[in-house]
Amino acid sequence: MHSRAPAPLRALVEQLAHLPGMGPKSALRAAMALLKWPESETRRLGASIHGLRDALRLCSRCGGLTAADPCEICADAARARDILCLVAEWDSMLALDEGGFYHGQYMILGGLLDPLARKNLETLEVDRLLRRLAEGEVQELVLALGATLEADNTASFIRRLVDGRFPRLKVSRLAQGIPLGAEVKYMDRETLRQSLRYRQEFV
Ligand SMILES: [Zn+2]
Repeated sequence: MHSRAPAPLRALVEQLAHLPGMGPKSALRAAMALLKWPESETRRLGASIHGLRDALRLCSRCGGLTAADPCEICADAARARDILCLVAEWDSMLALDEGGFYHGQYMILGGLLDPLARKNLETLEVDRLLRRLAEGEVQELVLALGATLEADNTASFIRRLVDGRFPRLKVSRLAQGIPLGAEVKYMDRETLRQSLRYRQEFV
């Protein structure tokens, strides 16, 4: 950005340029568009950004982003409590749930295991998962981690982890007809519905 540009504008463009899908040029375009907004609108946007951290928290049950704890999904008494679907990220949970064909519980692992180094193990919500399973309500754990190498690796790790601890727990995973390399959050509704319906026991 031109060094003659006023400092407040430069600062905004620099910050906007850190957003996904934004480069310096598109950040400048966005900043220029914001300048043309009515003041009440830019104040509202500023307040939304400011309030985001205060208004949102992580659900203590599933780990998803929510305004209230537990989140709407975990608090929904109409959902089955004996089936728990483990996803890598929150947006995978949204993708699955928007389909409307799954009516059980969710848990967000918080990522996938790095296949080479297991350095990131402590960043995953393994303890939360074990605590949840130890409550004894869940009869089936559905691994919906995707069809990538990392997902496979993580699925095997979880399988081994729960095997000894919860011998009566059924562990399944999404049908392997899903495209190789697919991430759950990018799958279309029909693929997700089918892969959940034809989920296979994971042994
Ligand atoms: Zn929740």
